[in-house]
Amino acid sequence: MTAQMIDGKRIAADIRAEVAERARILSARGVRPGLGVVLVGDDPASQVYVRMKTRACEEAGIHARDIKPPTDIGQPELLAIVDELNADPAIHGILVQLPLPGHLDEREVTERIDPSKDVDGFHPVNQGRMSQGDPDAFRPATPAGVQELIRRTGVETSGAHVVIVGRSNIVGMPMSQIMLQKEPGANATVTVAHSRTADLGAVTRQGEILIVAVGRPGIVRGDMVREGALVIDVGVNRVDDPSAARGYRLVGDVDFDEASERASWITPVPGGVGPMTIAMLLRNTVMSAERTPSAAEVGAAASG
Ligand code: NAP
Repeated sequence: MTAQMIDGKRIAADIRAEVAERARILSARGVRPGLGVVLVGDDPASQVYVRMKTRACEEAGIHARDIKPPTDIGQPELLAIVDELNADPAIHGILVQLPLPGHLDEREVTERIDPSKDVDGFHPVNQGRMSQGDPDAFRPATPAGVQELIRRTGVETSGAHVVIVGRSNIVGMPMSQIMLQKEPGANATVTVAHSRTADLGAVTRQGEILIVAVGRPGIVRGDMVREGALVIDVGVNRVDDPSAARGYRLVGDVDFDEASERASWITPVPGGVGPMTIAMLLRNTVMSAERTPSAAEVGAAASG
């Protein structure tokens, strides 16, 4: 079998266009969606990522407010920034770019974000609500994007065996919760593998849908993929490549060429899951803004 490619770039562009339309409708109601982005310090990868998010926001009609405190900001000062964004009615979503410098307490910062503005979906309130099946809980962007990619292939997930490799709080763990939900695009039987899993190949070969989020190039070889599986590669790894202009190229966790011979569907890296993450973040932000009454609506409610 030769796999069909899942074009994350195209699907993400479609979602961003849907978001832009929703933002336009909101603006007509007097609500301009706003995202507050906090980037501590000058980590180059985070800077690139935040720039991409800001640009995507502007294209979708979302106001992005960037706050860039210095690396040595103290915990109380960072919490005060989060408090200010929590209180700002023009801000519907808050994103604190992780990882934070080592002297800062990521958990306390994450938990300080108002859950109703937690568009990254990392707050324990949202994670708990999501795992309890609350459809209104914000879901972390990357696993939500993976589900969207699977949905748009039309492959049936209900009753399918989904194998997820990786159990991080940002990808594997929420991914498993999402695929267990009683909803279209989920309702699956889920197995989660991790670094202590014995005989990884024996587990991955069971997956009718195989989602890999490890961070090791080529950890999943072709013979670890079930014939006809749908394969989603979340991994993004830099490998040296002297022939590339930058001296490296990006590859996933799955050996793409080998897996393509056995899978029915597969995501490329880059151009698969990556573009979906920002698209889903924008979607969460617009969803949050849609829950906010406009000033006129607030006034009408107060006078009526
Ligand atoms: P992470 O926090 O490092 O977690 C990696 C997971 O892989 C852990 O659960 C770990 O198991 C498991 N693992 C490690 N070695 C393994 C092995 N030999 N066999 C089986 N499982 C193994 O990473 P992450 O944040 O989830 O990210 C994973 C990958 O996705 C990275 O390449 C990252 O760059 C990429 N990513 C991409 C996006 C995107 O937008 N496309 C977003 C987020 C992440 P233990 O729990 O036992 O340690």
